[in-house]
Amino acid sequence: MTAIADKISKTIRDVYDFPVKGIIFKDITPVLKDIALVNSIIDLFASKFESYKIDKIAAIESRGFLFGMPLAIKMGVPFVPIRKKGKLPAETVSAAYALEYGLAVIEMHKDAVSKGERVLVIDDLLATGGTVNAAAELIEKLGADCAAAAFVTELSFLNGRTNINNKNLEIFSILTY
Ligand code: AMP
Repeated sequence: MTAIADKISKTIRDVYDFPVKGIIFKDITPVLKDIALVNSIIDLFASKFESYKIDKIAAIESRGFLFGMPLAIKMGVPFVPIRKKGKLPAETVSAAYALEYGLAVIEMHKDAVSKGERVLVIDDLLATGGTVNAAAELIEKLGADCAAAAFVTELSFLNGRTNINNKNLEIFSILTY
């Protein structure tokens, strides 16, 4: 384990039975309070992706924003939000994905990314992969390429990587459980 992954694992808080019984929620709010650690996370993402010719960073509501926007500033590339259905005001594209019970829908503005652009997706955590799959679908619907997806943590026992439809999509996680 890298020093930064070790630090994240010691800082992140496990909350049992949230939001429903049986789930161990990985609470990143203690990480956010350690601003030196946040800075190292952003620096690590920036150095990992500096050679990827990224045109835009797309982050997923809402915890993805906490890492996506500072990374966009650090890398000097535009930021676009991916939000839950009904939150974005202008014309959108949408993608549905399965949750434990029922369906969820996420949206992105139609003018968020352009044909041929290379987009890096950021979220706090990779679980089953449903969310990042839907995010990649939105980007691809608009003719852009999902160059990679990066997470602070990954719950590998939920097999998120194998559930991703785009088999060329590179997945990067700092800390894997
Ligand atoms: P998934 O679509 O299953 O990969 O779930 C990923 C999304 O759900 C991310 O936006 C996470 O913030 C959130 N999430 C799922 N499971 C957890 C968990 N155990 N702890 C914290 N966040 C989670």
